[in-house]
Amino acid sequence: MNVKLDIKEIKSGCTFYKVEYPEEVKDEKNKDLFGRVFFDKDSILICSKYPYQEQLKALLHECIHTILDNGVIDVDENEIRLFTNLLHLFIMDNPKLFKLLIEYRGEDNAEI
Ligand SMILES: [Zn+2]
Repeated sequence: MNVKLDIKEIKSGCTFYKVEYPEEVKDEKNKDLFGRVFFDKDSILICSKYPYQEQLKALLHECIHTILDNGVIDVDENEIRLFTNLLHLFIMDNPKLFKLLIEYRGEDNAEI
């Protein structure tokens, strides 16, 4: 049995998505998926039968859906996949930037 991610909730925009890790995740045609977001239930499912890294990538992918594929921006599945891969690489290549962004708690509006 694979390890499940220790992330039970994702905040995206104004919405808190509950994250669950079932053994199977299917689309509406019963095809196996790595993950799936349900906008109507504010929930994300990540298939727990895949290795840890695949679950991480799947969760990032579903999060990108919540950020971009929410009716505001018109994107398709291939664009979401491409953007997820590019963002993943960018995060991995620039960990210090993300660490500083997370740590920044400044109250001023200093020019960057
Ligand atoms: Zn997708």
